[in-house]
Amino acid sequence: MTDYDLFVIGAGSGGVRAARTAAGLGARVAVAEDRYMGGTCVNVGCVPKKLYVYASQYSRAFTDARNFGWQVPAPAFDWATLRDNKKKEIARLNAIYRNLLDTAKVTVYDARASLVDPHTVNVGDTCYSAAKILLATGAWPHIPNVPGSEHAISSNEIFDLQTFPKRLLIVGGGYIAVEFAGIFNGLGAQVTQLYRGPLFLRGFDPDIRAHAAREIAKTGVDLRFEVNVAAIERGRTGLRAQLTDGSCIEADTILYATGRGANLQGLGLEHVDIALTESGMIRVDRDFRTSQDSIFALGDVTGGMELTPLALAEGMAFARCQFGGSEQHVDYEFVPTTVFCQPNIGTVGFTEDQARAKFGRIRLFKSTFKPMVHTISGRDEQTFMKLVVDAHSDRVVGVHMVGPDAGEIMQGIAIALRAGATKAIFDSTIGIHPTAAEELVTMREPWSED
Ligand code: FAD
Ligand code: NDP
Repeated sequence: MTDYDLFVIGAGSGGVRAARTAAGLGARVAVAEDRYMGGTCVNVGCVPKKLYVYASQYSRAFTDARNFGWQVPAPAFDWATLRDNKKKEIARLNAIYRNLLDTAKVTVYDARASLVDPHTVNVGDTCYSAAKILLATGAWPHIPNVPGSEHAISSNEIFDLQTFPKRLLIVGGGYIAVEFAGIFNGLGAQVTQLYRGPLFLRGFDPDIRAHAAREIAKTGVDLRFEVNVAAIERGRTGLRAQLTDGSCIEADTILYATGRGANLQGLGLEHVDIALTESGMIRVDRDFRTSQDSIFALGDVTGGMELTPLALAEGMAFARCQFGGSEQHVDYEFVPTTVFCQPNIGTVGFTEDQARAKFGRIRLFKSTFKPMVHTISGRDEQTFMKLVVDAHSDRVVGVHMVGPDAGEIMQGIAIALRAGATKAIFDSTIGIHPTAAEELVTMREPWSED
């Protein structure tokens, strides 16, 4: 008889969902969490990020309101108010997460846990035995080793800065870099974003990347490609970043958003036989089993798409499979995602290149237009939409958008794509007028056909 049927390490999105679901199915479950209830998403990820996105959008709303007749005195932004209200909201969510676990009768240890052997976990001075152990320890920001990188911060620190950075330098061209460029630009900072390659957001559809770059540059972010930081030093008036193109930038804060690696430090992996992938994540099969039979892993620590809804889906599938006899697996096709840059990027399904490689002949539909609100606001912003269609089956296999509310729009489109909607179904769907989203069902003429 073991102490627990399941011991979960990490109370983030995946760990909490797995623990609650397993306990609901009758398992005796414990969770250890050493930092914060709810993990990355709740504390230093999706939630505080989205709150800051909302905050940052007011500045453009004040400006855009003028041509609609609103006279607003010059608004002033107070960082401490935003930061401290955010803290209160996160504390509320931490308590909700704890309560969810308590209600589900999951034992919670507020401490770091490490593996002792395939069935034993050490927490503080005590060892607990468990039939199954789940590693849901998430990921941790990776800052490359350039001279002076100790002066830079990661997304973990950006939320709670004591002082608002008037000059912010962001390194990276992925989700976090573009989202924080938009946030701090909107809040009034002078933002420079550096990306080492020719065009940021690698992996997204090429038209989306190009359109987003144009629109983000228009908002005032100093977006520079093919350049990186060579060294950082602290000067009298700020941090000085020496760039690889020979130029130099001074900033109050330098944010590195250069990817995240598996959070494995101090986990005791040396005591068990767990294989890692080439990129250092925990290797699992489709049941989330590691190379050690009794140990499972899911969420960011296993790599793949690092998204909260996937960690949740994996946590639920794992628990149902191990404790409920379910044989359902997580389906990773047509996972929608949004980059909350400004304007938003929303995307689901195959990019143009991926679709051509998989389906052979494809048809593309594209539309670029000025959103109605800007006909009066005067803002020079264009929305872009693109449909990728498998020419053989007429199935829509990719939908990509840059524009306001792309995230909200793409959730419904993802349902249609998963249901196998064809272009004919898109065409026969009545639009909602006047919206931007109606453009998705009114693009008639192919932009190109292979
Ligand atoms: P986590 O949520 O990271 O949880 C892991 C937990 O394990 C942590 O609480 C950690 O403290 C704990 N832990 C680690 N080691 C131990 C140990 N040895 N003992 C005890 N506890 C331990 N995703 C989206 O879908 N939408 C978004 O808008 C979005 N925005 C993001 C913004 C930022 C800035 C970041 C960084 C991420 C964002 N993500 C977003 C990604 C999302 O947060 C992650 O995919 C998700 O949190 C992964 O969940 P997880 O359970 O795998 O890990
Ligand atoms: P990403 O992997 O998305 O992007 C990392 C960026 O850093 C890439 O542009 C990469 O360039 C660049 N980079 C890597 N190493 C270096 C280096 N040594 N020097 C300069 N640049 C470098 O990671 P993020 O940190 O932005 O985010 C982590 C993950 O969290 C995301 O992938 C996403 O899954 C999740 N997330 C989701 C969000 C959402 O759903 N809205 C929001 C935020 C995060 P290159 O492309 O050339 O490799």
